[in-house]
Amino acid sequence: MSKLYLYDEVLWSKEGLTRSGPIIILRCPNDYCELDAKSPFYFVCPMCGFAKMFEKNILEQKNIVKKIIKSFDFKDSEVFRIEDEMVKVKKVMEKDEDYWIETCISKNRDGKKQLVIYAGSRKNEDDKVQFFLDLENEKLGFDQGNTHPEKVFTRVVADFKNSSSSIVSNENEKNEKF
Ligand SMILES: [Zn+2]
Repeated sequence: MSKLYLYDEVLWSKEGLTRSGPIIILRCPNDYCELDAKSPFYFVCPMCGFAKMFEKNILEQKNIVKKIIKSFDFKDSEVFRIEDEMVKVKKVMEKDEDYWIETCISKNRDGKKQLVIYAGSRKNEDDKVQFFLDLENEKLGFDQGNTHPEKVFTRVVADFKNSSSSIVSNENEKNEKF
């Protein structure tokens, strides 16, 4: 079934594809008939006489419509942050109703490789934490901008090759190395 898009009081359809994108046709809101161009700004329906005057010329107008329609393709897209050379490794525990968790390998600002773990509550969007595992220095840290991890977790332990780093739900023992 073809779709019609209502924008600026007229209908627009996407018909055919060229190298520079889809062909956008202007259609009458009353009978869906293609409008006749009387000028780059003025269009009239040959069926019912509906007339439309645009402020922008039709090419500009079509470009806007084309961009808006194209944006729908990305509605459910995943967003990759690329400033930090983020590489998505995998998504786990997608099925859990209460919590979500996501892990990535990225490079920090010093160019060192780090493992990033995001975790949070599905019930409360603000309850989320972001852990950084500094692989070289064997350190566990968290993003201060999010909820403090102890609000979500009782204890988080990272076991490295030579040491262990943990965050526990007691302010004094935070980030203790042992
Ligand atoms: Zn019409």
